Parts: sequence; C-alpha cells; structure tokens
Amino acid sequence: MIDYSLVLNTFILNYVKGVVLVKVAIMGAGLAGLSCAVLLEQYGIVPDIYEAQYKIGARFTNGEAIMNILDFPVDDCFNYLERKYKVKLKPINTLESLVIHGPEDSALIEGELGYITSRGNHPCALEVQLGDISKAPVFTNNYYTIDDLKGKYDVVVVATGNSNEPKRQRIWETDIVANIIGASIRGTFNPHQAEVWLNDTYAPQGYCFLLPYHSNIASLCVAVPGTEGVNLELLWQKFLATLHFQFSIKDTFTLHSFQIGRNKSLVSQNLVFVGHAGGFVMPFLGFGQFTSMLSGFEAAIAIANGNLQSYVEAMQPLIDSYYPSLKIRRLLASLDNNKYNLLVRILKNKYANTTFFKFPIPILKLAASVLDPFMARNADL
Ligand SMILES: Cc1cc2nc3c(=O)[nH]c(=O)nc-3n(C[C@H](O)[C@H](O)[C@H](O)COP(=O)(O)OP(=O)(O)OC[C@H]3O[C@@H](n4cnc5c(N)ncnc54)[C@H](O)[C@@H]3O)c2cc1C
Repeated sequence: MIDYSLVLNTFILNYVKGVVLVKVAIMGAGLAGLSCAVLLEQYGIVPDIYEAQYKIGARFTNGEAIMNILDFPVDDCFNYLERKYKVKLKPINTLESLVIHGPEDSALIEGELGYITSRGNHPCALEVQLGDISKAPVFTNNYYTIDDLKGKYDVVVVATGNSNEPKRQRIWETDIVANIIGASIRGTFNPHQAEVWLNDTYAPQGYCFLLPYHSNIASLCVAVPGTEGVNLELLWQKFLATLHFQFSIKDTFTLHSFQIGRNKSLVSQNLVFVGHAGGFVMPFLGFGQFTSMLSGFEAAIAIANGNLQSYVEAMQPLIDSYYPSLKIRRLLASLDNNKYNLLVRILKNKYANTTFFKFPIPILKLAASVLDPFMARNADL
C-alpha cells in the first residue's frame, strides 16, 4: 500500500528543497534495486519495481559475509547505512572469527571482523528486509529488458544483479568469470565464525568457504574461475571428502559464469546502473552486498536531486578501489599450495595478523601498489 499522506508531505518538503519528482522504473528487486526504492521513497518518489522472479528473494538461500576490512574507511557497515541513509537493516550475526585453512595448516583470525547476513528465500534475508521497508509496487514475474522500459520512464534503474543488460549496451568489461558450486548444510556450527580453504587440489585459483547463518545451518561453497572445462562436481566431491566434521546436505546449487567486471558507463541517457550491473562486485572475494546497497542509495539521491552524474561522483571511491581488489584477487589466483602454506604461516603470526586486520586499507592499497611492477611483468595475472 502506498502511503499517500507521506508522499504528499514529502512532495511539499521536496518542492521547497528543490527535489525533482520523476517517474522511475527499477529493474530487479534485489539488494541494489530495493535500496534505491527505499531511498527514493524518502524523497517522495515511488518507483515501479519490475522483478523477474515470482517474489522478492526467490533464489537459493545462503549466508554471506560483510567484512569491515573490505569496506574501509567504513568501520561498521550496518551503522553506516543507518546513520547516513536512515535505513536500519539487521545482519544475522556478527562475524568474530575467521579460520583460513591452507593445505597443511590453519590460521585463526579474531576480532570485530564484520557480519554474517542471510540472502534469498529466508525471512531475515537482506532483500526481504528492504522489501518490507519499501512501499513501492513490485511487479513480479516481469522480465523486461532496458528497451522495454527506457521510453516509458524518466529514469530506469538497472539493478538486475548480472552483466546481461550492461553487455547488451556494450558498456561492460569482464575481468573474472567465476563458477560456484555450493550447498546449505545441516550440522553444528559456531554462528560467529567463517572458514576459508585455500587449496589448488579442489579450488584451483579460487577458494572454498563455510558461512553459518544459524547454529545448525551453513552455506558451504567452492568458487573457482574459468570459462570452460571446469568440472565443478569433481572439485566439489574432492572438497567434501576432505571435511572432517559431521554434516548433511540440505540443497545444492551451481552457478556458472558469474561475471565480475566493470561497467564503463554507470549513467547513460536515462539509464542508471547499480549493484552487480553497475560493476560493484569487488573482485578480491567476489563481495558485493554492501557496495550494491550503497550504489542503490546513491543512485536514488542523484535521481531525487535531478543530477544523475552526481551518482558517478559519489561512487568514485568505490570505482577506485576496484583495481587494488582485482590485483589482489589475481595475485591470490597465481599461488600454488606451497605459497598458500606460506601465506597461512604469515597469517598465523600474531603481529602480522593484528596489523592486517587493524589497519586494512593502507595494507591492501600498499599491497596493490607493491604488486604493480610484478603484474606488469606477468600480463596474464
Ligand atoms: C554464491 C554467492 C555468494 C556470495 N557471497 C557474498 C558474500 O559473502 N559477501 C558479499 O558481500 N557478496 C557476496 N556475493 C555477491 C552478492 O550476493 C551480490 O553482489 C549482490 O547480491 C548483488 O546485488 P544486486 O542487487 O546487484 O543483485 P541481486 O541481489 O542478485 O538482485 C537482482 C534482482 O534482479 C532480478 N532480475 C534479473 N534480471 C531481471 C530483469 N531483466 N528484469 C527484472 N528483474 C530482473 C533478479 O531476479 C534479482 O531479484 C555472493 C554471490 C554469490 C552468487
């Protein structure tokens, strides 16, 4: 239900403030699309949302992480969203420890590392929470292309969660093609702890992870790059065979050709690209929840102010952090089991571990710039 009194009040307020009221379509009721809708509504603009699936969150259910280290200088992502955009969302849990397993040894990292969220078809999934806040109509089972909508609206926000639409517009460049096989598993887990495995036997150039989104349910995944010839099922079976804890598989999913890349034109005529479609999945670990929500919020502010280009300016710090993230991803992808062993030994060192997680950005940026000459010599990386 649209709250028309709220819309009228906001309209009057916005008229005084000079906010432009426009007809907006949002393609995709995921994280970025719904974030954009929620903020537009704060300005009295009620967008039409078109969602390809039958409901919000109609995808596989999984646990995902938001890590403070990756979003520096924001030290607490959920506080930041509430403070800056007045949108209160709840993670499932805090992330307080991370176990990194190398082929021979493991490192334990502890601290205020971030949050665990739930996604998809889960009552506390982030997209479900945003859908509950938004009062905008969501037209489900509507798979549209840009061409279907761009002539009918003042602004079309492309929030489709993949690279298809930007590719059709010829504004997309893929850097990594990832393939993911995963499952929800039942067992007994520490709900504040995630685990990562680095091992080229079952995750060549990639990684495996376990993320509990309840004390008895977790997401377990293998993510590896590759455009062809990746036998995900074989890698998955090899990985499962190495695990020494009790669990049962609830449901599995595979995702081929998850494309991480850049959108070269975030704003083009009356189109605004947000979330994954805007290139806001960071290559290092393939994380894109926080960045998708930020892009949705910032797009809404730009639309309400009638200045779409200001969206590009607002997103510049994130655009700039894409390359360091890509470099580190590529470096990790170049490591073999011996180097993973070395990396885990370094992370086991109390002082290195504390420095890395207490002062993330200088270290990440420094790492990327130190890598520059190395990357130049190795064009394939
Ligand atoms: C297995 C997996 C694990 C991940 N783990 C993490 C993690 O731990 N941490 C992290 O930060 N990120 C993680 N990510 C990335 C994160 O999930 C995405 O970056 C984020 O969901 C992108 O948000 P979005 O709004 O762009 O897309 P989505 O949230 O996917 O929403 C896109 C919506 O658009 C709809 N849609 C698609 N096409 C159309 C169309 N033509 N018309 C209408 N609707 C359409 C879809 O049905 C969907 O509802 C993970 C991704 C995967 C696949």
